[in-house]
Amino acid sequence: MKLTELFKNDSLSLSFEVFPPKNDTAFDSVKTATEEIAKLRPSFMSVTYGAGGGTSRYTLDIARNIKHCYNVPTLAHLTCVSSTKETVRSRIEDMKASGIENVMALRGDLTPELEASDRSGWAYRHAVDLIRDIKESGADFCIGGACYPEVHPESANQAEDIKHLKEKVDAGASFLTTQMFFDNNLLYNFLYKIREAGITVPVIPGIMPITNANQVERAIKLSGSFMPQRFKSLVDKFASSPDAMKQAGIAYATDQIIDLFANGVKNVHVYSMNKPDVAKKILDNLSDILR
Ligand code: FAD
Repeated sequence: MKLTELFKNDSLSLSFEVFPPKNDTAFDSVKTATEEIAKLRPSFMSVTYGAGGGTSRYTLDIARNIKHCYNVPTLAHLTCVSSTKETVRSRIEDMKASGIENVMALRGDLTPELEASDRSGWAYRHAVDLIRDIKESGADFCIGGACYPEVHPESANQAEDIKHLKEKVDAGASFLTTQMFFDNNLLYNFLYKIREAGITVPVIPGIMPITNANQVERAIKLSGSFMPQRFKSLVDKFASSPDAMKQAGIAYATDQIIDLFANGVKNVHVYSMNKPDVAKKILDNLSDILR
């Protein structure tokens, strides 16, 4: 199922993100975790892609398994940074052959090594180049793009970031998923600004349940997200008690999701990080709301 069809639906729904294993040894445990999440019947599941293509095969293996064995619509991520045109074209062909219908087209993060390398010969500089290539390949994918309510860290300002976001949509992205955020007002302001800029495609907010103290630092480093005082107090109070931190983090994420639903959002994407227990608790917390 193409996700654009799903987004036309008026009912409220949750989707989950999982990531592929880094090597063969971890494959079975990751596969089992993603299957447990698939059994919860989310509206769809996304499977991330290792920058540089390190886990590309696993992304497809996991996505194919979820789709074909559990009948859950899947969104396979694809990054293009430092890839050749031939590599990307072959990934697109593999996705088509696997029956993938939805692709999240991303640039990928610039690692310090990539930042230091000679970029003059790169075939892809931005996600928009990948979106154009997917379109040119004739593949009939529903294409998603990433967006940043708190501005992408490389952008000089929000106006510039939104200008480039519009280019992705004009090139063929038919929906957008947001970077994580911990203050819903940031999303509401962002939505207002992108709608004003003429971006009308569905925007799926991404919510990260922070379930242990180590995740906090990693999440801020990766996303540059603003931590509201309410969230900081929760971490200060419960970080040293793993069970309490997990419960508080799930409650905070649930609260964010309820507020999003109450303010007109229909689908929320949860960065469930291969944790079926976290995904299940969030769904349980919302059981009557989602019914
Ligand atoms: P782009 O859209 O290329 O944007 C990157 C920066 O370049 C922005 O500042 C933008 O404003 C600017 N820009 C865009 N176009 C132009 C242009 N034409 N000229 C000048 N500047 C331009 N990473 C992974 O490795 N694997 C994943 O699976 C993955 N999944 C993700 C899912 C989501 C929902 C999100 C939000 C991020 C994900 N990432 C993933 C991380 C992502 O790769 C990084 O955030 C990366 O730094 C930017 O990717 P992008 O596709 O948004 O890039």
